[in-house]
Amino acid sequence: MNSFKNFRNLVIKPEEQKILLSKIEDSEQEQDMTLPANCNGFGRIRHFNKFVADDWIPDPLPIEPALKYLSLDSADKLIAQVFQIAICNLKCWYCFVPEILRCANKATSRWFSADDMLDLYENEKLKAPMIDLSGGNPELAPEWIVYMMKAIKKRNLKNVFLWSDNSLTTDFFFSLLSKSDLNFIKEYKGYGQVGCFKGFDEESFSFNSGLANEYFDFQFEHFKKFIDFGIDMYGYVTLTTPTLDKIDSKISKFMDKLQKIHPLIPLRTYPQ
Ligand code: SF4
Repeated sequence: MNSFKNFRNLVIKPEEQKILLSKIEDSEQEQDMTLPANCNGFGRIRHFNKFVADDWIPDPLPIEPALKYLSLDSADKLIAQVFQIAICNLKCWYCFVPEILRCANKATSRWFSADDMLDLYENEKLKAPMIDLSGGNPELAPEWIVYMMKAIKKRNLKNVFLWSDNSLTTDFFFSLLSKSDLNFIKEYKGYGQVGCFKGFDEESFSFNSGLANEYFDFQFEHFKKFIDFGIDMYGYVTLTTPTLDKIDSKISKFMDKLQKIHPLIPLRTYPQ
């Protein structure tokens, strides 16, 4: 896990409170987007949609937590302003972010403070009610969450819900944030996080994430820490696997592991 510190060191300057963001404009990723990149090429609008396919269950994330905080009526779609940290320590086979945007490449990235990001956001005509700290893997620089919360609070942007992803592969959130930052997050209203289980057993985890299977169990310990801490926490689980052998029993075991965290966690976990 310590090796992931090398990844982290490439995308955060704590002394300047800056994060390395990927430039999405003119990238391969931009070709798949509904709208062109915004925020001078370093942001994008994501269209979250509860109904992704006729034969799949509705995905309420992050629409429902955001609507609740924003006191908005029920909706099936919601847009978010996305910024992407320029690195990832996983290699998911299904990743939609090109490798060049997840390796801290100097030619495709730039340093931003949270205020720089909010300046860009506030200058956009289409202002999304949600800001999504994505990547790459934002869990490598959990300070980013604190920087954004403080900047949002300073500007009194009460109509903005903050959301971030967590790939559940490091303990940086709890080991690197100060006590006062942790308390600040705890008291902040209008933030939710999704922890991504990259598989339902060791084999599917390694297959999906490209990481050693020893990280599989860590995901549950880490998810529990966030629940115990009191974050509004949700889960995604990637259900792809190289083999369907004993699939029923494997999924049952996965559900048991979720329920060990809390009996209701399966109801907060959306399959992908
Ligand atoms: S964690 Fe996300 S950004 Fe990283 S490889 Fe997987 S899908 Fe891509």
